Order: sequence, then structure tokens, then C-alpha cells
Amino acid sequence: MPYAAPAREFRFLLDEVLGFDAVAATERFGEATPETVNAIIAEAAKLNDDVIAPLQRAGDTRGARLENGVVRTSPGFAEGYRAIAEGGWIGMAGDPEHGGMGLPFTLNAVFNDMISGAALALGLNPLLTQGQIEALETHASDEMKALYLPRLNSGEWTGTMNLTEPQAGSDVGALSTKAVPNGDGTYAITGQKIYISWGDHDFGGNICHLVLARLPDAAPGTRGISLFMVPKLIPDAAGEPGERNALRVVSLEHKTGLHGSPTCVMAYEGATGWLVGQEHGGMAAMFTMMNNARLQVGVQGIGVAEGAYQHALAYALERKQGRSPLPDGTGSIIDFADVRRMLIEAKAEIFAARAIALACAMAIDMEKATGAAEWTARAALLTPIAKSYGTDTAQKVTYLGVQVHGGMGYIEETGAAQYARDARVLTIYEGTNGIQAIDLVGRKMMDGGEAAMRLCDEIEAEAEAARGAMPDLAEAVWGAAESLRECVEWLAAQDMQERFAGAVPFQSAFARVLGAFYHLRAARAAGGAGPRRALAAFYIERLLPEHAALIAQTRAGAAGLYALEPEDLAS
Ligand SMILES: Cc1cc2nc3c(=O)[nH]c(=O)nc-3n(C[C@H](O)[C@H](O)[C@H](O)COP(=O)(O)OP(=O)(O)OC[C@H]3O[C@@H](n4cnc5c(N)ncnc54)[C@H](O)[C@@H]3O)c2cc1C
Repeated sequence: MPYAAPAREFRFLLDEVLGFDAVAATERFGEATPETVNAIIAEAAKLNDDVIAPLQRAGDTRGARLENGVVRTSPGFAEGYRAIAEGGWIGMAGDPEHGGMGLPFTLNAVFNDMISGAALALGLNPLLTQGQIEALETHASDEMKALYLPRLNSGEWTGTMNLTEPQAGSDVGALSTKAVPNGDGTYAITGQKIYISWGDHDFGGNICHLVLARLPDAAPGTRGISLFMVPKLIPDAAGEPGERNALRVVSLEHKTGLHGSPTCVMAYEGATGWLVGQEHGGMAAMFTMMNNARLQVGVQGIGVAEGAYQHALAYALERKQGRSPLPDGTGSIIDFADVRRMLIEAKAEIFAARAIALACAMAIDMEKATGAAEWTARAALLTPIAKSYGTDTAQKVTYLGVQVHGGMGYIEETGAAQYARDARVLTIYEGTNGIQAIDLVGRKMMDGGEAAMRLCDEIEAEAEAARGAMPDLAEAVWGAAESLRECVEWLAAQDMQERFAGAVPFQSAFARVLGAFYHLRAARAAGGAGPRRALAAFYIERLLPEHAALIAQTRAGAAGLYALEPEDLAS
């Protein structure tokens, strides 16, 4: 499928909107000079445009299969994976002490955005390995780091994340997989995990499963969970893949989309595992991996949206229907106001979601580089917003992509529908967007809303700076930030049930206001004129007003949601 990574857009965002130079100015990331960043973006674009994007359709039409207990991947995926690994893209943010490149996580997010637009199903594989690398760097013993990290960073081995069980989805604490000490420092892992992405493949090397399980004396709930490394092939004394471990793929899930990514039901049958971190400390360790992956799933949404948007734009420029309403029109459907609306809306949403996600990635880098508490709070606050808005944007834009194609969008041969089917899971996995919202209004507001209000201050300062050049747009953004601030104050004073009732609309309202902030800043960076200003005006005049309705929903409270009983819903 043709795809052109939006390299210029990434550079504009990093240089002109988000101030990436602050990351490059730190000692830790001093090597991320503008020249290096430009070279990385250009190389990543080349790989994704030329090598990965051509694999997109085979990943849908000839998805992964299970043959005699072994997963066979889509044609070309193994070669594509090797190109990713050999290019050094998997370990780009890994610690150089263990074979990583030590680059900022922000650049990792840029790469992930591109690969998700090129072929989401394949891109999910390195994403999981990258999450595992971070979890091991933070929690594993030196011995485990020395064995696994170089091989994961190089892409020789891949990583998975095993949380979900039939009775334990959002409620991870309900898991029942057992870990019994073997008496030699290892553990026997027994249980079934479902929905395990890339639980097996035919790329060679080894597959390293991070598995959440319960020790015999474990407390109930999340407090009693421990994390284990359970490799498919047990490394021998030289660290080479050796004897087969007692685990297997029982079946592959039949899915709506993402057919190129094998989603496995895994059986652990007394498999040998090694503890990662402390006994009963599994959730803390898993959170490291999940936090990284949550933002990256938001980024996946943005990438898929970009792919769908490019596809729809190309079709709109070609498809002729009726007479153009414009005297000097192209003669294709792009001349119609409603088609313009759909395309501009898609572009405006992608820009806003991308800015928020990269701002979150930068906050993570600044946190790592400076250890400052404000960056920790900023990254924590933005993560659920970036995940949910990026993946909601994927739903909207892939839907619009099909709509722009008309009937040809619904017919599989154009590939427009694949984006929509592939993207559908993004609001569900890595914590549903409802769970993200609960995190935002719960844990992320334990500070009484302080981190959120600091962001409102920044938005208002940006609006003040833009008043001279763009008074109307600036006033709208300033007013929206004030409403958001009042809503944060109101929420912080509510009990959890009230907060949870308004959590999803609040999360969306927050994203709307933040999106407007970044659009305004982009327009100002472009001198308050031209296409950047026009795009900002579209977002601020047509999409930002939704924040008022969303805030009204947030404040409507819980009682109304329980005024209808389940039997009323059924009648
Ligand atoms: C294609 C695919 C790939 C996946 N890959 C992996 C993987 O690699 N590893 C892995 O471990 N898992 C994986 N998952 C599992 C995924 O993370 C879960 O599906 C997800 O966490 C939701 O759990 P669930 O499906 O059991 O839904 P449930 O938890 O049953 O949720 C159903 C609904 O109830 C809502 N809900 C649940 N609890 C609450 C609450 N407390 N408050 C408000 N609303 C609530 C949810 O938001 C949702 O709308 C994958 C899933 C899919 C479909």
C-alpha cells in the first residue's frame, strides 16, 4: 500500500511546536542533535515507505496461521522484521550498556508512528519487545539483563507481554496462573493466557514471554502478583536458545482485523520461569512495560490514522463524480465541501493527537534526563490522554477514510476498510480507553489536579502570546482552558464514583483543549498565516467547541447513569 512517512511534519512538530531542543540540551540525550534527528527521521521514513508499507495488504489477506503448533507469519513479514532489526530500530531507546542506542524515547515514538502507518500488524512486534526491554532495564537482575537485553535490543529475540486470562481482563488482579518455586531459583509456571500478541512466529531466535503469575502464598488481587521471564527456548550456558520450554500455542484468535499479528492462546504447563524484580512485585514491574506500551498504542493509532488519511486523500484527488462546484476545481470529489470537511478534519485530528503523544514522549525523556518531579507528573498525566485520543482518532479517521471512498471503501480491494478493521482494537488493548479515563481522574488527580492545572496555565500563556496575531483563535483557546480548569477543580472535589461517571467525557474534553493549544502554537510558529493557521482555525472553530458539551457531560454526575436499571435497559 503506498505510504509516505510525514517526515517534514515530525521535524516541524519537534523543532517548532514542542521544543525538542530541550531534550537534546540534556547531558543524557546530548547526541540527539538536529542533524542526527533529521538523519534518523529520513532513514526511518525510507525503511517504512520502501520495505514495510508493501507488506500491509499481505498482513490482511494472508494473515498468520497456526500449523502443527507453530505460527506461520504473512508472506514477507520475516524479511520485513529482519530489516527492522538490522537497521537497529528495535534497540533505539535501549541502554547502550546492553546494546541499545540510548536515543530519546521520542524518536522511538516517531518510528512507531511511521511503522504503524506502513503496516500496523508487523509494527506491533517490535513495540512489544521495546516495552520488555524497558521493563528488564528497570527491574531485572544484572545477570538477566546481561543475558536478555543485548539479544532483545538487536532484535535477535523478541518479547511478549502475558497478562490477560479469560477471567482477568481489565481486572488483572483476578489472574490465576501459578508459579511454584522449583527449589533451584527457578519457578514452574502453569496456566492459560489469552490474546497474547506475537506469542509465536517464524522469525527465528527466541521468544521471551514476560508472564504475570501468582506464588503459592500470594495475597489476593494485584498485590499478590509476580512477574516471570519464561523463554520459549531455555538459554544454554552460552546463552544460545536450547531446550524447548513447557509452553505452547493452543490456538490463534479469529479477529476483526490485524490478521498479520498472531494473537495467541498460550498454555504454560510447568514451564521454567525466572523471577523479574521482587516476589509479589509483579504489577510494579509490569506497569513499566504497560506505561511505555500505553503511549505507544496511542502512537499506533496516529500512525494508522495517517495511513488511512493518505489513502483517502489519494482517492479523493482521483475519483470523479458530478460537476465541480469550483470554477477552477480539480474535477474530482475533493472539490465538494463535505469531502473537504472530512479530509481536513482527519488532518487536524492527526496533527493534534500527534502533538500530544510526542509531548508525552518528550516528558518521559525529560523525566529520565533530569529526574525532575514536574516531568514525572507531566508524563503521567499525558499518558492516558495520549493513549485514548490517539486511538479514538484512529477510529474517527479510518471511518472517514472509508466514507471518503464511498462504496469502494466498503469493498475490501481498496484497502480502506483494512485500516478501520485493524485500528478497532486500539481503544481496547493496553487498557481500554474507559480504563485510561479512570486512571486520569483517579490516580492522576491524586495531586488535587495540580499537574492538570499547570498545563492549563501553559495553555493560557500560549493564548496570551497568540492574541496579537490571531485574537479570535486565541480567545477561544483561552476560554476553553478556563473551562477545563474549572472542571478540574470540580472533579477534584468529587468522590470516585462521580469522577468515574464523567471520566471518559473529561478525558476527551482535555484532549480537545490540548489539541487546540498545539494547533494555536503551530499557527503562531508559522507566523500566524498560511496553511498552519487555516488548519488551526478549522480545529479551533469547528472541533474545540465540543469541549463545552463534553464538560457538561462530565459534570452531569453518576446518579443519571443509575436511574435506568438493567431491566429498564432490557425492555
Ligand atoms: C487483538 C488483541 C491483542 C491483545 N494483546 C494482548 C497481549 O499481548 N497481552 C495481554 O496480556 N493482553 C492482550 N490483549 C488483551 C487486552 O489487553 C484486553 O482485551 C483488555 O485489557 C480488556 O480486557 P477484556 O477484553 O477482558 O475486557 P473487560 O475487562 O471484560 O472489559 C469489558 C468492558 O468493561 C469495561 N470495564 C471493565 N472494567 C471496568 C472498570 N473497572 N470500570 C469501568 N469500566 C470497566 C471496559 O472498559 C470494557 O468496555 C489483547 C487483546 C486483543 C483483542
